[in-house]
Amino acid sequence: MIDIKTLMLGELGANCYIITDHATGDTAVIDPGAFDPRIDAALEQIGYDKVKYILLTHGHFDHIGGVNEVAAKTGGKAKIAVGKDDLPMLGDSVKNMAYPFSMTTLAPIKCDITLNDNDKIMLGESEITVLSTPGHSKGSVCFLCGESLFTGDTLFARSAGRTDFPGGSYTELKASLKKLAALNGDYDVYPGHDRKTTLQRERESNYFITGEDYDSIY
Ligand SMILES: [Zn+2]
Repeated sequence: MIDIKTLMLGELGANCYIITDHATGDTAVIDPGAFDPRIDAALEQIGYDKVKYILLTHGHFDHIGGVNEVAAKTGGKAKIAVGKDDLPMLGDSVKNMAYPFSMTTLAPIKCDITLNDNDKIMLGESEITVLSTPGHSKGSVCFLCGESLFTGDTLFARSAGRTDFPGGSYTELKASLKKLAALNGDYDVYPGHDRKTTLQRERESNYFITGEDYDSIY
């Protein structure tokens, strides 16, 4: 069982999820897109010593902009994890789109763990499964934990991530969405932007899953 706290951070309001294992209080921060007084207060309340992981759904700047500050507040103890194919984005403000998108640069992020499909991460007594879901970016991943599925910019409520950035592929995105839709049972879906949804709702109503194949929508 995990508790989930949601914060919309940064200029683009990317969703940051702070997940805490009930039994131990061990905490992971998914996609700290920026560091501001709200995330600082939330993590102070939990205790920075409880923050074991910073988990990244992908390497775009709006999802990683607060990583270094959070990591520093843990005294460098929180392990930073990203899908292996997005690793180059953590040290390059062109690849992570900070410069092309908003003419800013991010300090390089030192990654501790590169993630592959079906990797397991133990957060206290809660197991997190990594699902490789390329398409929005080459190394995009989703995190499955209990009844919750954190989908980054792969799957949104009634929508899906854009594929026109470097490393994006509409063909791969479609395959990744099919892979999520094929999971057994239902999950609460916590996307990287906008409102939460459920996997079943998306199986039934998300045109990227139900619709005809297009070459691309962009
Ligand atoms: Zn993105």
